[in-house]
This record gives sequence, C-alpha cells and structure tokens, in this order.
Amino acid sequence: MNDLLVTKSVSKYFGDFCALNKVSIAVPKGCIFGLLGPNGAGKTTLIRIINQITIQDSGSVYLDGEPLQPHHIQNIGYLPEERGLYKSMKVGEQVLYLAQLKGLSKSEAKKQLKYWFEKLEIGDWWNKKIQELSKGMAQKIQFVVTVLHRPKLLIFDEPFSGFDPINANIIKDEILQLRDEGATVIFSTHRMESVEELCDHIALIHESNKILDGKLIDIKKQYKFNAFEVGLTSENDNELTKKLKSKFQVSEADFKSIHDGIKLNIKVSNGDSPNDLLMYLTQHAQVHHFKELVPSASDIFIQTVKNN
Ligand code: ADP
Ligand code: MG
Repeated sequence: MNDLLVTKSVSKYFGDFCALNKVSIAVPKGCIFGLLGPNGAGKTTLIRIINQITIQDSGSVYLDGEPLQPHHIQNIGYLPEERGLYKSMKVGEQVLYLAQLKGLSKSEAKKQLKYWFEKLEIGDWWNKKIQELSKGMAQKIQFVVTVLHRPKLLIFDEPFSGFDPINANIIKDEILQLRDEGATVIFSTHRMESVEELCDHIALIHESNKILDGKLIDIKKQYKFNAFEVGLTSENDNELTKKLKSKFQVSEADFKSIHDGIKLNIKVSNGDSPNDLLMYLTQHAQVHHFKELVPSASDIFIQTVKNN
C-alpha cells in the first residue's frame, strides 16, 4: 500500500450547496501533498472530513488502507485554519495539557516540548499567557502541539497565513524535515509561493471539484511552454532578431547577464526539440544563455481555473 490517505468520491452538502463534489485524492506515503484552490473551493471541508470533524454525505476515506475510524485520530496531527488556544492559560501549562491529551506521558511531553521550544527559539514564552502573544507566536505554539506526538500524517490548513516571511520560512523548513523523517504531510493553501518549495504532489480544487492532481513535476511537464530564455550576441543584433521573429514566436526577455546583445524568450513549435532551436541559434549567433521556461504552480493554477 503506497498511499497513506485516500478519499474516494467524497461529497458534502451544506443544505442545497455542494461544498465537495465527488472528490477523490490519493496521498502517497512520505510526500508533501498540496491541497490547492481559491478561497471557498472546499479545501477546509475536505480536511475536516479527513479529521472526522465533519461527516461526508457520500464517498469514503481510507487511512493506510483501512476505512477511517475514530481511533485513527491518534495517527493524525491537525493544525486547523481557525487557531484556538485558551487565551488566559499559560503557554507551558497549556502545551503540557494538550500533549498529554494526545497520549504522551508527562515526562515524554516535557522532553519533546523542550526539544521543540528550543528548536523554534520560543523557550522564554513558557510562562507567558497566550493572550500576551502575537498571532504569529501563538501559531508557532500550535504548530508545536500539532507535530509533538509524531503522527504519521500531518495536516496543516493554511499553515503560513498569519506568519511573517521569516517565521513562514522556519515553518517551511520544519515541514520539510518532518517529511524527511518519515511523516506524510497534507497542507492547504490558496497562495502558490509555498507550493514550489514544498510539494511533491498537488490536487487543485475549484468550486467543489477536483480539477487537477498528480505529481507536481509531471503536471509541469504536461503544461510546459516549449519556450526558452536565450541570451545571444551577434555581428548584427537587429538583423538576427528579425530573422528569429520570422521563424519563431519571440518576445523580449529580462534576466541578468554580463553580455550585451539580445535577450529573448523563444517558443518552438510542438514538433521541435530544444536542440533544433539551439542548432539554429549556434549557426547564427554566440549563445551565452539558454534556459527552458518552466510553468510555475501559479501559472498552472491560473490556467486550469480559467479553463474550468
Ligand atoms: P476553502 O477552505 O477552500 O476556502 P471551505 O471548505 O472552507 O473552502 O468552504 C467551501 C464552501 O463551503 C464555502 O462556500 C463555504 O462558505 C461553505 N461552507 C463551509 N463550511 C460550511 C458550513 N458549516 N455551513 C455552510 N456552508 C459552509
Ligand atoms: Mg480553508
């Protein structure tokens, strides 16, 4: 069994409103799986179903091959979108309490908490009340509580919202490390920057439907532009540009280079290979720069949502 979590044709209605329409995803073990989609797409609804907070109207969910059951909660660490900690309780008391709720003994909880509080440099918050902390600080604490018991599946709903860029990076690195140590991670986001650095797999949800999923690298291949960024020098740059324009689809490019000359994005027709273009270029110019243009997760997101 290679997939840790599978949903099969999961649907959810709120009254007449369909929040999820027959959504099937498969999350391979040991991967970071991005659940992407605009606001209101249905991401949180699906995450709440996986955490057995909401019950689907139809379809099924499997964890490690077994139909989802209440006891599976122990195997899942869940950071909800709405963060909630008891405001007037002290940080230390609260995290110890929450850790023990997750089944850790007091001494094990203390040991793990010490490790994480040192790692995230939040040790001096131990005796503060939650209400004294900023939103980002409270979120860091909730992150610790989510991962503390080392569940095999981690689910973060919009983990980066509320974090400044520095702390977002710290959390990103922690997520990567947790994956490297064997956890499987699902995280939702409507922001694409984090996707490039983190995700091996993605599913794109739009208006309650899954409209795209798979390995990020395969999807990128599927959406590739067949275009290359090139930097050239020649005897007569104007003449060369004209020639290129008559043969290829060409637009201005902008990148740093130590060479004068021309910088272009050149699209080859579908049958042509990068070598065909390169051969042509080497016959007419000095090639200083040649790089395939790869669609970003954001390009793919926008194009797929538009087409749906
Ligand atoms: P996302 O997390 O992708 O932004 P959600 O899953 O939170 O989206 O919401 C999907 C849609 O379902 C939204 O239109 C939202 O208003 C609706 N919805 C979510 N939860 C409820 C609920 N408990 N009652 C009624 N509508 C809901
Ligand atoms: Mg949400």
